[in-house]
Amino acid sequence: MNVTYLHHSGFAVETQTKVLLFDYYTEGGRYAFFDPQAYGEKDIFVFVSHFHEDHYDRRILDWADNPRVRYVLSADVRTVAGFAGETLVVKPHESHDFGGIHIETLRSNDEGVAFLVKADGKTIYHAGDLNWWHWNGEPDAFNADIRQSYTTEINRLKGQEIDVAFVPADLRLEDKYDWAVAYFMQTVGAKALFPMHFWKRFDVCDMLREKADGSHIMKISQENEKFKVF
Ligand SMILES: [Zn+2]
Repeated sequence: MNVTYLHHSGFAVETQTKVLLFDYYTEGGRYAFFDPQAYGEKDIFVFVSHFHEDHYDRRILDWADNPRVRYVLSADVRTVAGFAGETLVVKPHESHDFGGIHIETLRSNDEGVAFLVKADGKTIYHAGDLNWWHWNGEPDAFNADIRQSYTTEINRLKGQEIDVAFVPADLRLEDKYDWAVAYFMQTVGAKALFPMHFWKRFDVCDMLREKADGSHIMKISQENEKFKVF
């Protein structure tokens, strides 16, 4: 399986017969690395976890004419007039079979959903903006709600054998930046975990790798970096 880190929370995952593109964000074209033509016969699934501009780039809609491209869009994502791409619209806590892959959703504690995807015998988790958003200085009640919403959703994944996970590690949360990753690894685990949503702070990867359970954390060094996993 090949994984390409594109930008921010955007990744392309290539399995034997499929390509899964998550939360493609080019920042106005600056990081427009993904070309659906580059994958030959493989079917391409374009996932958008929610409508925020750092997760949803309307450039993806330009590929609707490509018969190999399908879309999996959270229900809060608005397309454009005339858009006719083959699309599955998803809400939290659903389960779907679509185009030869299996998709389950979690409820994000920000907007939209997180995705659990099974394709070609591999299991992939992409969190979207489901994160342990503990902000220092927020009222305790807020942070207690965040704890509850994050742990409740991640607990739903218990027992899943996840090959690759994409989980936020946002240094704006200061010393709590690693809570989402740590809880995910303790509760569910993954053979490989890619940090994301780190606003170009690539050093967060080394910071996580130095923690006690950091051996499954992947080190991302730059945009458009390619990884071979399993
Ligand atoms: Zn975001």
